[in-house]
Amino acid sequence: MTRLILATRNAGKITELRAILADAGLDHDLVGADAYPDIPDVKETGVTFAENALLKAHALARATGLPAVADDSGLCVDVLNGAPGIFSARWAGTHGDDKANLNLLLAQLSDIPDAHRGAHFACAAALALPDGREQVVEGQLRGTLRHTPTGTNGFGYDPILQPDGETRTCAELTPEEKNAISHRGKAFRALVPVVRELLG
Ligand code: IMP
Repeated sequence: MTRLILATRNAGKITELRAILADAGLDHDLVGADAYPDIPDVKETGVTFAENALLKAHALARATGLPAVADDSGLCVDVLNGAPGIFSARWAGTHGDDKANLNLLLAQLSDIPDAHRGAHFACAAALALPDGREQVVEGQLRGTLRHTPTGTNGFGYDPILQPDGETRTCAELTPEEKNAISHRGKAFRALVPVVRELLG
């Protein structure tokens, strides 16, 4: 069985990718970065989701000698020309302060009417092999930004993105409902043929 490592310490992401690989009949042994505690942190110096996902996947493949998957994602707002984009996690200054990031974005968009509040979550997922081979795939979830946060599930900008065709925000969906339509779910599912091609 081929071991595959996912560049995350988030148990939810590992469970999600493991289920997608199993559904596709792939029996790779997927482990998270926690399994290799000495791996150095990677600076996300890329300027696109794809570049950052590839940077992280290659660093992990080099450090462990294993095929490695990494993802990078964020929220892209139409009227902000795709921002916060790769800066989504630190839009208000402090990395990972979800509440401050969301509140700053809402303030910036306060005068923008519903017709112009289109946005999407984007995710790039990369597979890198220790021999340097690589592939990257992407997924998106389109929707509209609410004026006030609603719902308590999920994280980040989930309480303000209402997916197209939905009456609820992402933070009102169950994890299963969100995984079925999410940018990350789409990117992870697009990885299946890539894993088959590169790892057999
Ligand atoms: P990461 O690349 O998965 O660490 O995501 C970077 C940032 O993008 C997060 O900190 C969130 O602010 C935002 N983001 C990415 N995916 C989602 C999502 O599914 N829901 C809400 N926010 C997200």
